[in-house]
Amino acid sequence: MLWKERTLVLLKPDAVQRNLIGEIITRFERVGLKIIAMKFLIPTKEQAYKHYVKNEEEIEALGKRSIEGKKKSGIETNEDPKELGQKIIDRLVRFLSSGPIVAMVLEGNQAVAIVRKLVGSTEPLQSDVGTIRGDFTLDSYAIADNDNRAVRNLVHASSSVAEAEYEIKVWFDEKEIFSYNSVRDRVLYDVNLDNINE
Ligand code: ADP
Repeated sequence: MLWKERTLVLLKPDAVQRNLIGEIITRFERVGLKIIAMKFLIPTKEQAYKHYVKNEEEIEALGKRSIEGKKKSGIETNEDPKELGQKIIDRLVRFLSSGPIVAMVLEGNQAVAIVRKLVGSTEPLQSDVGTIRGDFTLDSYAIADNDNRAVRNLVHASSSVAEAEYEIKVWFDEKEIFSYNSVRDRVLYDVNLDNINE
């Protein structure tokens, strides 16, 4: 069905440590998204690496994005994109595998885009008020870089349907993902809502 788009969400170690699991999940639930899989785990380094590195080209692309970002903020740098990308990946892997996280699969109309909108932009310094990152945290690339660590931005959310398909497989077996009916789905998607009393 058209509305059954799936996306992967991770509540990173900072979200768990700051007792924000409930607050964050509430944001996804109240918009109407459906939780179809969920687990609490400490990722291995291998799992975290597999999650972040879909293919080797992405390492350099991440480095390039970081250099562009620095230039925009007026920071001159002559770092090699690939080396920088690798450094960022190493920090991300170290962070994600540093403690318990919550992994979940959410389903709903345009789930990928809706979740990205709720989560807000990557750097908390830039995320809008009203988004999860904008409302619950305040980190920036500048302070994270200075401390040689990943940006603590609470949540990961897939950025495309293809990415979601890849990432869901990193964290879940198909048998851990449930298909079930809910009254909410009827109210949100049923074309015959005028017959709701029947
Ligand atoms: P998002 O987490 O919003 O999907 P990306 O997929 O672009 O963002 O990046 C993954 C992670 O890599 C981010 O959560 C962030 O911690 C880190 N990251 C991204 N861009 C940069 C950057 N320019 N400098 C440092 N870290 C970055």
